[in-house]
Amino acid sequence: MKNKKFSVVKTGKAMSSVALSSPRLLAASDSAAQHIQQALRRAIVTLELPPGAHLSENEVALRFGVSRQPAREAMIALAKIGLVRVVPQRGTVVVKISARQMMQVRFIREALETAIVRQACNRFDPMFRASIDSILAAQRRAARDNDIPAFQEHDERFHAALAAGADAELAWQAVIDIKCHMDRVCHLTLLDQKTVLGLIDQHETILAAIDAQDADAADKAIRHHLTEILRSLPKVLADRADLFE
Ligand SMILES: [Zn+2]
Repeated sequence: MKNKKFSVVKTGKAMSSVALSSPRLLAASDSAAQHIQQALRRAIVTLELPPGAHLSENEVALRFGVSRQPAREAMIALAKIGLVRVVPQRGTVVVKISARQMMQVRFIREALETAIVRQACNRFDPMFRASIDSILAAQRRAARDNDIPAFQEHDERFHAALAAGADAELAWQAVIDIKCHMDRVCHLTLLDQKTVLGLIDQHETILAAIDAQDADAADKAIRHHLTEILRSLPKVLADRADLFE
C-alpha cells in the first residue's frame, strides 16, 4: 500500500521514497526551513505522509541536506498549524484528520471568499484577471494528466489570484495556514476525473460572474464551490474512517 512507505520514516529507508523535491545542499536558513515545511505540508495533504506517520528530525535533515536546525524549525511550524504533534516516547507524528476542524476552515473560507468575489465584481485588477486564464488552463492540464497534487496547487493559485485581483491578499493570507485542514479532506474527494473537471467548471462559473460584474451570481457560485466538500464528506468519512479522529 502506497501509504505504508511513509509510516516508517524512522527506519531511514522511507524518506528516500518520499516524493519531496529536495535539493541536497540547501543553506541552513529560514528559507530552507520554509522549503522543508512546504514540502512536508504537501506530502501530508496528499496523504503521502498519512495520519500516524512518524517524522524524524534527523531523517528530514538528511533528506534535505540541511542541519537539524531548519528541519526542527519546519516541524515546529507544522505543529503550530496542527498538522503534526509531538507525542512523548514516540516523537513527531502526523495527526489524524479532524472533520470538525475542516468544517471550521470551510466556514471561514466561505465568509471571506464570498466577500472577496463581491469586491472583485466592483473592481478587479486586469493583471490578475489575465493570470487566471493561464491558471485555469494549467489546472485543466493537471486534471487531464490525473496529477492531483498539481491540480490542488493550481486550485490554491486560483483562489489566491481572486483575492489578489480584488485587492484582498490579506484575506487570503488569513486562511493560507489553516486551509491545509480542508485540503486533506479535499484530496480524498478528488478520486475521478469527472469530479476534478467539475471543480474547474465551477471556477469558470465564478470567473464569468466576476467578468459580468454580477455580485449575486459570483456569491452564489463561490458558495456552491465551497459546499462541494460537504456533499462529499459523508462518503469520505464512511470510506476512510481510519484517517479521521
Ligand atoms: Zn477551487
